[in-house]
Amino acid sequence: MSSVYYYNGQEYKQRAQLSQTEGFVLASLVSSAILSPLPYLGKSFTKQINKEIPNNHLYKDCFERAFDISGLKSKGVEVIEAQSANVPMMYKLGQNACFDPITNKVVLNTDKISAAGFHELGHALNALKSKYGVKYLAKLRAPGYILAGLMEYFAIFSRTKPKGAPRSFTDVIEDNCGKIAFLAMMPTVLEEGIASWRGIKLAKKAGASKELLNGMKKIYLKAHTTYTGRAVLGGLAVFASRKIMDLFTRPKPVD
Ligand SMILES: [Zn+2]
Repeated sequence: MSSVYYYNGQEYKQRAQLSQTEGFVLASLVSSAILSPLPYLGKSFTKQINKEIPNNHLYKDCFERAFDISGLKSKGVEVIEAQSANVPMMYKLGQNACFDPITNKVVLNTDKISAAGFHELGHALNALKSKYGVKYLAKLRAPGYILAGLMEYFAIFSRTKPKGAPRSFTDVIEDNCGKIAFLAMMPTVLEEGIASWRGIKLAKKAGASKELLNGMKKIYLKAHTTYTGRAVLGGLAVFASRKIMDLFTRPKPVD
């Protein structure tokens, strides 16, 4: 159903329901096309981490030294061997590792991906031994994900007001949802980068060879690409959805 209304002396026509449905379908298609490279970025990271598995014994030696000199033990940090712990399968299989800031535990399969451990120690250093408010970046991680997800909903709302109409608070959010979705991910992107940088610095201090450091850098770069990819492509997908919904649902001036 369509209706007519006036704004600033100009007559506007509300868009039909069909137009809204078309806009929604197109926005969903374009958005999934924009996000489609993300699984490849994840696979590329897994490939890189698997490439370094034959050198794991070298990484493991260095990781133990790095943990000893990190000063994290005195802060209550523990390394939990994922193989024998009650943790999700991906950690047991050595497909990923993590630092839990609530329990201060690094969960890692040291028999497989010790190379990833330095980055997790970097997260622990960020949380427990950091300056300039770096520890707060990690606290913004979950709210950032929620906010970015929320922006997807704002993007697919139908536009009910003509272009020049006064903007309410939600209109302003709607108008900037792509930017907000991107910015909401920035604390995570930044904190991940700092964790990698500190991890590599610690590995160097623990005497890692050039080869090990290079291998580590490659893994960390690919891991980081998954975060930047999610921020950039996620922001773009939200932006594109909003533009499409705008085109299909914004009331049109009647000549
Ligand atoms: Zn990380």
